Amino acid sequence: MSTIIRRTPDELMIMREAGRINAMALQAMREAVRPGISTKELDRLAEDVIRKHNAKAAFLGYRPYHVPTAYPATITASINDELVHGIPSEDRVLKEGDIISLDCGTQYNGYIGDSAFTMGVGEISEEAQRLLDVTEAALYAGIDKARAGNETRDISRTIQKYIESRGFGVVREYTGHGVGTEMHAEPQIPNWWPSGRQRARGYRSITLEPGTVFALEPMVSARTPQTKVLSDHWTVVTCDGSLCAHFEHTIAVTPEGPPLILTTV
Ligand code: MG
Ligand code: MG
Repeated sequence: MSTIIRRTPDELMIMREAGRINAMALQAMREAVRPGISTKELDRLAEDVIRKHNAKAAFLGYRPYHVPTAYPATITASINDELVHGIPSEDRVLKEGDIISLDCGTQYNGYIGDSAFTMGVGEISEEAQRLLDVTEAALYAGIDKARAGNETRDISRTIQKYIESRGFGVVREYTGHGVGTEMHAEPQIPNWWPSGRQRARGYRSITLEPGTVFALEPMVSARTPQTKVLSDHWTVVTCDGSLCAHFEHTIAVTPEGPPLILTTV
């Protein structure tokens, strides 16, 4: 059983700066999203912001043990039925009515900030807008539960209930995660959890303590939530082709009250 690291005030100050730079990178992309822009152009914008602040792109070169190729870019850019990990490309050009999920990680003085959002390109359908609104609100409902003394399953259940009660599907294959000097650490925080005394198979629920830092990231499908990975080994899409959304913040549990959101400007 690996231990959950609690960060010191000095570490949290560095993590706040990592998160701030990451948020600025996301903001630069948000302002640039429009029909006709390629996902590679968005990647360059994020890269510029990160480099200008003497930080490093945390995703670039990242390679989990089960993937044969290291990640080749600063951001992941996932369009419509793509959920996460879409690789930026000059050939992927945004169109009016698309939705785009942009995820970015910044490493500053050895510490990482990780956050993401989904937005519409120009005018989007009412259904797509509702999907974005519900996913973002589910993230904030989860964040509100990230208080000292609560358990991680309280967060998981809150996020799941928020999403499913509004008729959308919770993706099971990817979870929130501890963040620090590594991008993915303990605890893992799924966006779902069985009710009562049952456990989520493969996960444990831990009691939150001040100084614990993790990313929450609900991933939501408009219809069925099953996903698959494309042959590029990275891009995750919904199996039924339905639209999906993803919002993420890195947060730190405080001694009292709601957590500190580290990934804001
Ligand atoms: Mg992320
Ligand atoms: Mg993450």
